[in-house]
Amino acid sequence: MIANVLVMIRKRSRTVIGAALLGCCFMTPQAALAADCPGNPNALGTSRTIVVDPREHPRIGTMQYPETLPLADHEVVLTFDDGPLPKYSNQVLAILASQCVKATFFTIGSQARFNPEGVRKLIAAGHTVGTHSQNHPLTMNKMPLEKVRQEVDDGIASTLAALNGDKSKLAPFFRIPGLMRAEIPEAYLASQGIQVWSADFPADDWRHISPQRVYDLAIQRIEAKHKGILLLHDIQPRTVAALPRILNTLRERGYRIVHVVPATADRPATPTQPQQWFMHPPTETVATTRWPRIPNFVFTATRTLPAPVFADMDWRDADVLDHAQRARVGVPVRTLWPQPQVAQLAPVSTLPIPAADVFRVPEALDLTLLAARSATNRRVAAAGAPRAQAISARQARHPKQAAHQVPAAAHGRSRGAPLHVAPPAASNAAVHVAKRTPRAEASAAGKRVPD
Ligand SMILES: [Zn+2]
Repeated sequence: MIANVLVMIRKRSRTVIGAALLGCCFMTPQAALAADCPGNPNALGTSRTIVVDPREHPRIGTMQYPETLPLADHEVVLTFDDGPLPKYSNQVLAILASQCVKATFFTIGSQARFNPEGVRKLIAAGHTVGTHSQNHPLTMNKMPLEKVRQEVDDGIASTLAALNGDKSKLAPFFRIPGLMRAEIPEAYLASQGIQVWSADFPADDWRHISPQRVYDLAIQRIEAKHKGILLLHDIQPRTVAALPRILNTLRERGYRIVHVVPATADRPATPTQPQQWFMHPPTETVATTRWPRIPNFVFTATRTLPAPVFADMDWRDADVLDHAQRARVGVPVRTLWPQPQVAQLAPVSTLPIPAADVFRVPEALDLTLLAARSATNRRVAAAGAPRAQAISARQARHPKQAAHQVPAAAHGRSRGAPLHVAPPAASNAAVHVAKRTPRAEASAAGKRVPD
């Protein structure tokens, strides 16, 4: 049949090729499935079966794990927990059969012991059967390994007992009760080659909600992700009531049901690419991989960090120093790095020093101080004296203060000594800083100590 399709494709135009491919891959199987479902020409059907290897993908279901089943868009896997319970499980089986849909059931060991025939019905109907612990404890996330092992192993043994010990009929799939995942049960299950199934969307059918609500939640959540594993319970009457509508709506909206079976020695896993195991492949959703990275500039740190001195680098540049000594070359006293003058100043020392007149002001508030400086300005301006002359005049009155006016380099300043700069003549900026910032106020207060 495929060969015939290919021959036909070669003979037709590109447009027809597209239509032929669509018919080949989507329309024909659905139509065939409907025709193959006895008594229901409009059945949803099972579109395909995928084979998975639990050892390659030990945990699935995006409710809790990064990976999920390698489904295509609009493909859904149905799962049912907590059975078998004849009253409702049998109805679920009948509904699925009416739509020719295959699902995965996670049975509880104690339920299987009580109703082994229910387990056999699941297998006879062609569904996949995994397990869900022996007693359905909701504390598996807190259990020590020994109790985890007992719950898992007993649940498998009980279900296997219903199948007369035929391991080929039981899938190595496990759903942790209440989805109470933890490292201990996950590690144990992985060590046994058992795949942990979470889900991609629940329908909250274990809660006391109406069948309508179960239907609404199931459809809304499926539509939000467009594909994935639906978590249901075959022991709930509300699930039985909602299931026919869920399946009909999925069919009407173009969804397809996928059946999942485990890989075996003679049934290899369906070939897949790693990205197919993610709900949203990274290349489609991770914007940061496609956009240029924004540089992370640091503006503040570079202004206050002191420039490195050579001594700071001795421990890592010992070779350089040794070479210099062996060659009887003077040890370099300057850093090899540019040493900006401003960078060595502590932030406080960059503030202008108050004018000498300030120290003559007795106890006063900032407001009074500023007024006095303004008066000085006016006097200097009125005399028409240039700024340099005003400074010289103050230097003459205060020789100690005058030393600070000399550039540090010419003053023989030792390393680490504060480098004072000549204050601007009561500039507005200086007044502004002294008035507004707490640091400036603290600095000014310290300088008010009488000389
Ligand atoms: Zn459960």
